[in-house]
Order: sequence, then C-alpha cells, then structure tokens
Amino acid sequence: MTYSLPIPILGFAAYSGTGKTTLLEALLPMLTKAGLRIGMLKHAHHNFDVDKEGKDSYRLRKAGASQMLISSRNRYALMTETPDAESEFEYLLSRFDTSKLDVILVEGCKNIAFPKIELHREVVCKPWLHPNDTNIIAIAADTKVMETDLPQMDINDLDSIAQFVVSYVESAQQPVSKNKDAACCDTLSPAFLSVQQGQEKILSLVNPLAETETCAIESAYGRVLADNISSPVNVPQYTNSAMDGYAIRGDDLERDSYKVVAEVMAGHAYSSPLQAGEAVKIMTGAPTPINGDTVIMREQATTQDDNVSFGNANIKAGQNVRQAGEDLAIGSDVFCTGQRLASPEMGMMASLGFGECSVFRKLKVAIFSTGDEVQAPGTPQQANSIYDSNRFTIMGLLEKLGCDILDFGILEDNEEQMIQALQDASEQADVVLTSGGVSVGDADYIKLALDKLGQIDFWRINMRPGRPLAFGQVNNKPFFGLPGNPVAVMVSFINFVEPALRKMQGEQGWQPLKVNAVAEENLRSRQGRTEFSRGVYELDAGGQLTVRTTGKQGSGILRSMSEANCLIEISPAVDTVKAGESVTIIPLQGRI
Ligand code: AMP
Ligand code: MG
Repeated sequence: MTYSLPIPILGFAAYSGTGKTTLLEALLPMLTKAGLRIGMLKHAHHNFDVDKEGKDSYRLRKAGASQMLISSRNRYALMTETPDAESEFEYLLSRFDTSKLDVILVEGCKNIAFPKIELHREVVCKPWLHPNDTNIIAIAADTKVMETDLPQMDINDLDSIAQFVVSYVESAQQPVSKNKDAACCDTLSPAFLSVQQGQEKILSLVNPLAETETCAIESAYGRVLADNISSPVNVPQYTNSAMDGYAIRGDDLERDSYKVVAEVMAGHAYSSPLQAGEAVKIMTGAPTPINGDTVIMREQATTQDDNVSFGNANIKAGQNVRQAGEDLAIGSDVFCTGQRLASPEMGMMASLGFGECSVFRKLKVAIFSTGDEVQAPGTPQQANSIYDSNRFTIMGLLEKLGCDILDFGILEDNEEQMIQALQDASEQADVVLTSGGVSVGDADYIKLALDKLGQIDFWRINMRPGRPLAFGQVNNKPFFGLPGNPVAVMVSFINFVEPALRKMQGEQGWQPLKVNAVAEENLRSRQGRTEFSRGVYELDAGGQLTVRTTGKQGSGILRSMSEANCLIEISPAVDTVKAGESVTIIPLQGRI
C-alpha cells in the first residue's frame, strides 16, 4: 500500500512483549541526533486516554466536546472522540504536520500494510511475521533467519538499527518520478500490489469496444446498450384505471348513488365526458372517461338496477387511477449508453415500442489452460495428471457476462506452441485469458512465451487466494494470466477480469455489490493482504445478515465456491475478525 505522504513512514512490528517502546525510546535520541525530525504514531488499546480525570479538558470532553483542542506555550493536543469506529490509518497519518517532520515512525498497527522493521526476540516465543507480511523490509532480532533475503540486524545493536532508519529516510527522500506513466504496466514488474491497485491499473489499461450492432429486444438480455434512450411515447399512453370498479368525477363524491351509463373494457373507451351523477363501470387498464378521474373498487360498490352506490367507502378524488406518462413521460431520459439490459430493461424497451436497440458487439474472449499435468475431462485419467477444471469455470463466468468464448483447449508446456497459440488467440479475440503457470518461480513456459510476445507484468497481489497474476498486452489485446489453483482462478476473475471485461463491453458505472454481515465465527486473515474466504450469508431470525465460512479454505477446494453464496472480504488492515464483528461480504448471486 502506498500512502500519499510527502515523507517516509516506517513501522516497528512485533508481538507484545518484544520491547518495542523500550527500543524506540533508546533509538529516538540517536535519530534526532542524526538530524531527523520524528513523528510517532502509536496504536493503543481501545480504552486508552491521554487526559487525566478531573482536568479541565477531561471535564469539557465528558460534558460533550467531541473534539477537544488544548493548547499551551509548549504544546497542544487535539483529542477527538471516535465512538463509532477507530479512524482509518491513512486519516491518522494526515493529522501530522509533515512540513515539520522527516519521517513518521509507527509503533503497532502490525496488521496494516506499510514498510516495517520486524522486531523479534526468541524468549517471546512468537512466530516470525516476515514470511506472511510482504511489507517487512528488514529484521532486527536476537537470532539469525536463514531463509530470507531481508537485511538483518541484531535487535540489541541500536547503532545499526539507527543507521538503517537514517539510510531508509535518506533513500526515500530521493526525488521519485511522480509521473503518471509510473502506473503503466511495463514499469511495474515484478511488483507487489494491493487488490485495489491491481484493479485500478487494469481498468486504466483497457478500453471499451467501439463497434455496435442492432439487436432485437428479445435477444437483448445481458447486452450493453450503445445508445441513449429517451421515451418516444407516454407510458402509460393514456390515463387508465388501476382497479376493476367504477369511475366517477372527482368533484362529485358526495352522492348516495350514481347512474351507471356505460361499461368499459380494457382496449376500449367511453367517449362522452362523464356528467355529475354518472358512473362508468371500468376494468383495470381501461382508459378513464373524460372527467372520470376517480375510481372506486368493485368490492366497495353495491349495484341496484342501473345505479351504483359506495356505502361509506372513504373516497379520495383521483384515487385508483394511473396517469398518462406516470411511468415514463414522453421525451424523458430512460437509459444511457452503457446500461446493461436485463429483464426490466427489456420490458421497458418494449413498453416504449422499440423492437430492437443498438448494443455493443459481443466481446470475444480466448481462453486456454496450461500445464503438462492438466488433462481434458471426458478421457480416462492418466497418472500424475489432474482434470482441467479452470477452463470450465472460466467458460461459465464468461457466459454469465455474455461473452463469445473462443476455446483454445489445453496448451502443452512448450514455448513454440505457446507462442503460436497466444498469437492466434490475440488475432481472433478481444481478450486472452489463461490459467496456470504465472506463479513467481514457476518453471512454466508461458512466461517465456509471453516475454517474447508482448508486454506482460507478473504481479504478486497481496491477496489470498490468488496471489500471482499476469497482466499486459499481447498483440495490443489485453492478456490475463490467472493463477492455476481453481479457487484462485475464480477469485481473481471476480476481482480483476470481470470489472475489466465489463468496461470493455461498454458497461458504465458498474460496481460490485458489497454489504456488511456479522461474522458467526472467528475469521483469520493475515496483515497486509486481502483475504477472500468463501462464505454463506443469511438473514437470521432477528433480521440481521450473518455470515459463516464454507469450512476448509484451501485454494484448490473448488467445492468451497460451489457451497458459497458470497466472498468474505477481510481488508489488509485486519488480522482477525472476531465472531460478532461486522465484516464485508461480496454476494455472488448473478456473478458466478
Ligand atoms: P501453477 O500456477 O501452474 O503452478 O498451478 C497451480 C496449481 O493449480 C497446480 O496444482 C496446478 O496443477 C493447478 N492447476 C493449473 N491449471 C489447472 C487447471 N486448468 N485446472 C485445474 N487445476 C489447475
Ligand atoms: Mg502449472
């Protein structure tokens, strides 16, 4: 995660008991001596208070001041009550006067993504953080770690730690290009990105199709409108009755009985203006007669011979009548370009009299699977192989979005064949989608082929499942290299491919639905990455949306997607969601 701060930020991450504060207390004089002006942000437990009971500021806060700024000759302090939720990390950072600082050091906040030094002491008996937190840039410990490339220091060697911080601040102060092109794919490789950064980069690099075609309304389900539509007619065309009953004049409500002068069925009309004392028997949808602006429903009517009376029905002038143009008035805006057409839109287009409409042409998506172990279904299973599931989940996902699918099957791990297939696919399709072979350190040939063909970046997204993701252009067509694990494929598709395809299809303003639900169980995550667990949400007896996981969350367990009706999204800033806490869910209905 990057923060829009003009000065560097550096954290000290450790389990409690490691002695963070003691270390910082000893370190700060060395840093200030080296000329650094230091801001500190410390995360404390929720009941902390800097104020003292009985002090004026305390009394004023308790009396109702939600922000209390207290100032004296030597310092001031702003205390802000945050009863609803702890302030966002980024917001807290924005409280500093960075013009008077060289660096912000952070104690705590180990679940939030920003550069940190891991502090570790063996006696505390806690696991290492760096294997699961890509934000750790160095280690200060009382033991050596073998399997890491991170710089390591002795936790008791304060000089080295101070030197590290000073160099970190100096290198961060080097002017960096703020050029927007920095977001271009070819400057990013290999990179760690947050989910949002990945989404934004991809969306900024794909464009809507230009070609449109005419489509009959009956075939328009799921298509994206390529036109602004305004209403050529009034809907409804004429004022009509909303009930089976009797139409009378709205200025003639007080009579004991009315003479029934006609009966009007839907599709017909009574052409004479209704006179005082008259009623017309009318069916739902039939045009109301001139002056007959009020309808009383049949159940409230008593007839005798040619007369009708309404007893003590409480009649309001104008009731039970649908006005001409009440749904859509002539000339009013109905849909804009980029509207995806579903059932209501099909009906509305028809209600306006349109037999066809202009839509963006269908998006052609080429798909293939990779890997020598991957075998097509429908054939006897070979030793050491797995059936190809990814191509089929992807087909379903593409079907849901109304894409034309070009199925290139399974590609062998052979560079020549890959190059040929990618070339063919990119010539025939608007987008190329593969799965497998993009993990960093993977020996698959697809990477070699991609390197030769286009501009592809191999990203590591701070998410689970679905960390590896390749994205770029082959032959000027967007290319997505999804991970190989079946759940990771779906989660990556939902997060990165679907928004991009929707944009390419011309759809505008699409946002995934996200809502909050109460966790029924503790949900584990890891600091610094977004966790997408497969969940089942439901309304409990009290009307509260609750969510539980589908159980085992391995990224190969495709059944978890089948059992889920939502993804549970745990943000990088959160480590564990406790049972009873609120969590974000992404309902999957209509998307998978
Ligand atoms: P990879 O990223 O190629 O190393 O793949 C990661 C995991 O996903 C491996 O266990 C692969 O066997 C599996 N995998 C790759 N492609 C497919 C596929 N098309 N269908 C099912 N599993 C796959
Ligand atoms: Mg593979």
